[in-house]
Amino acid sequence: MGEEQRPQGDARRRRVQRLKRMIVLLVLVWMILPVGLSIVLLGKVRGLNRQIIETQEYLRQMEETVAQQVQMTGEEQQTGKEQQTQQFGRKEVIVTSPVDDQDIVPAAVEPEAAHKVYLTFDDGPSKYTEDILDILDTYDVKATFFVLGKENEHSLEMLKEIAERGHTIGMHSYSHKYADVYRSVEDFSADFYRIYSYILDNTGIQSTCYRFPGGSSNTISDIDMHVFADFLAEQEVEFYDWNISSGDAGSVLLDVDTLVQNCTADISRHGTSIILMHDAASRPTTVEALPQIIENILAMEDTVILPITEDTTPIHHIH
Ligand code: ZN
Repeated sequence: MGEEQRPQGDARRRRVQRLKRMIVLLVLVWMILPVGLSIVLLGKVRGLNRQIIETQEYLRQMEETVAQQVQMTGEEQQTGKEQQTQQFGRKEVIVTSPVDDQDIVPAAVEPEAAHKVYLTFDDGPSKYTEDILDILDTYDVKATFFVLGKENEHSLEMLKEIAERGHTIGMHSYSHKYADVYRSVEDFSADFYRIYSYILDNTGIQSTCYRFPGGSSNTISDIDMHVFADFLAEQEVEFYDWNISSGDAGSVLLDVDTLVQNCTADISRHGTSIILMHDAASRPTTVEALPQIIENILAMEDTVILPITEDTTPIHHIH
């Protein structure tokens, strides 16, 4: 009897052991499965979190980009933001410090200063535009370019560059041919819309400032300049003459010292100084003098260099 039952007992033991192993295995699976799932889920949640943060950052930058396109301003506080926007535009740099909504400047507000100086360059783009832009960047200064309708590839590239680097683009007529521009209000209007569209099409900017070829006090136009000034006012475009002339448009090429002197000597006498210079192929000394002009102005007390915005007090030669 005992001999016969032994194999049966062995078989039972083996079954019990198999059962035990299965139970242990099941318990292990029940324990490991939730832990493993939790780890996977945690990873997913973290990934989503990161995406949300990145999306928020992206939206913030988009808001800034829109705000900047609406309002091209070179205000000191905005310099950082402009850089962020430009870098964002090139998709190179991730913004590390989040900017809260309060930081989005709703309109161009000029900083307070006893002396506001506006560097303006007429007649560009030219072969010197890039040099001028580089000098302005070196000193972190924004200026205003009153451009002409030049359709060649280099000019279009420079026009975009002026805008991208945060300077103000103003209109200086499309053709700059006095006889054509000032022939009649119709001719003036046609030329105005051409330069307006030229800037809009190539930069997306709706320019709101204008400089008359020869200034508003030119003696070339047979028609009273007030007629053209009224036309601009109807378009809600402001015109800007100047109260400081570099003198760089004369028949004689001025040397650097004279240009620096012309541009800077009278600034302390004015609350607003709009300086006339030229971005033109025939005016190399203007580019040579520019660093010294900027350095002298930056060294002046309570004086800031700004781009023209809708906040700028205009200088008019005619009243
Ligand atoms: Zn001009």
